[in-house]
Amino acid sequence: MLRIHNTLSGQLEEFRPMVEGEAKFYYCGPTVWDFGHIGNFRSTIAADILRRYLKFKGLRVTSVMNLTDVDDRIIAKAAGAGKTIDEYTARYIKAFWEDFDALGCERPDVAPRATRHIAEMADLIERLEQKSHAYRSDDSIYYRITSFPDYGKLSKINFAGNIAGGSQRVDTDKYEKEDARDFALWKAPTKEDEPNWETSIGRGRPGWHIECSAMSMKYLGETFDLHLGGIDLVFPHHENEIAQSEGATGKRFARYWFHFEHLKVEGETMSKSKGNYYTYRDLIEKGFTAPAIRYFLLSVPPRKQLNFTFDALRGAEKTVASLRDFRARVEEAKTEVGRNEKLSSATQRALQDFEAGMDDDLNTSVALAAVHDLTREVNTALAKGALRSDDQGEVLEAIKSFDSVLNVFGESRRQMLDDEIQKLIDERQEARHRRDFKRADEIRDELAERDIILEDTKDGVRWKRK
Ligand code: AMP
Ligand code: ZN
Repeated sequence: MLRIHNTLSGQLEEFRPMVEGEAKFYYCGPTVWDFGHIGNFRSTIAADILRRYLKFKGLRVTSVMNLTDVDDRIIAKAAGAGKTIDEYTARYIKAFWEDFDALGCERPDVAPRATRHIAEMADLIERLEQKSHAYRSDDSIYYRITSFPDYGKLSKINFAGNIAGGSQRVDTDKYEKEDARDFALWKAPTKEDEPNWETSIGRGRPGWHIECSAMSMKYLGETFDLHLGGIDLVFPHHENEIAQSEGATGKRFARYWFHFEHLKVEGETMSKSKGNYYTYRDLIEKGFTAPAIRYFLLSVPPRKQLNFTFDALRGAEKTVASLRDFRARVEEAKTEVGRNEKLSSATQRALQDFEAGMDDDLNTSVALAAVHDLTREVNTALAKGALRSDDQGEVLEAIKSFDSVLNVFGESRRQMLDDEIQKLIDERQEARHRRDFKRADEIRDELAERDIILEDTKDGVRWKRK
């Protein structure tokens, strides 16, 4: 049974989805104002691991990851470049997906963009106004924190003693708010040429927090299973999402909150503003590979901090290469028919340890230790010629299971691509025409070894996977 630390309760809890056999989650995705750094991708990969692990556990998963494609930075950068928001963000959205795919992440089921959901945000703000959770000031709209007594339940920040009520001007914000803690739901344009939208609540643009409430509830319902994000989002972003969503619906919003710890550099959070960051592209330029970057980023459980060093990344390169080499050697080993009981139980144990590690709040360190223990035992057996045909199949199946979650072993060499297969079939046909039956048979055997079956029909050669 999967247990995760729920930020809301502060406890390790058994994960029990709302509907048995299904899991619905929302992950706060990137702000597409620039290339993402590998700290951002640590969180993206953690979300990917959770998604994959829920599937491993047999659940049907619906995952949503938003793209924040409007905020003050984007507006300023787009204006500076003389572009519209869409023109400016197009490049970074494209780059994000390229990096995302290269890092072996599975695409979410829905990846909504904030700018495409302005009407939904306006509707939600209207509901909040009707329930007196929101008020207008200078054509902007704010959330009234005093109207939501549960405010602070996620971050456990004690707001007692904070100035409440009474109109005041807060220097950090240009607008008039009732309470310093109140936050903007909707911002009226302050300049002539500022990007804005005409909606049922007037002309303006959304605050950051409202987008995630509107888009998560649109695609997952008013109550859903899991909400994920980096630890920096607990306050104020997620606290505000709860206030907005629960304020509007009167229902519980997300049931479990899972927050990922940061990637650090010499004790400091990797971030654009600190300048201590590397993008995925920077590392590729330095000669590192995507699977090694993925391995490094997932090698420590998501709820523990991870320190970035080039040494650790070089270590990950070696580990990934050895895992790939291991898979190839097991695939290619010529084995005698039968079973080596010792290896068979080692494989079972590795699978159990892997699952026990992952069940424990996604403890990827324990899960990886189980994988490495198995590779050591199998390597010893391979060196002694003690791997038997049954073990070979079981070990390869185990690798497939591990990799359905980790995705670091790379393509199986057995899994030939369709055009590679077709090429060999064409070569076999040619050999037959030359009456070189020896070569033709060799090709048939080679394909059979890779689980490809040939059928000679009157319309030519057909093939299928075993
Ligand atoms: P952003 O693009 O800033 O909206 O962030 C995208 C995601 O990356 C969010 O879930 C952040 O919490 C997360 N994030 C930002 N910095 C780091 C870091 N250094 N390590 C891990 N995750 C981070
Ligand atoms: Zn969010």
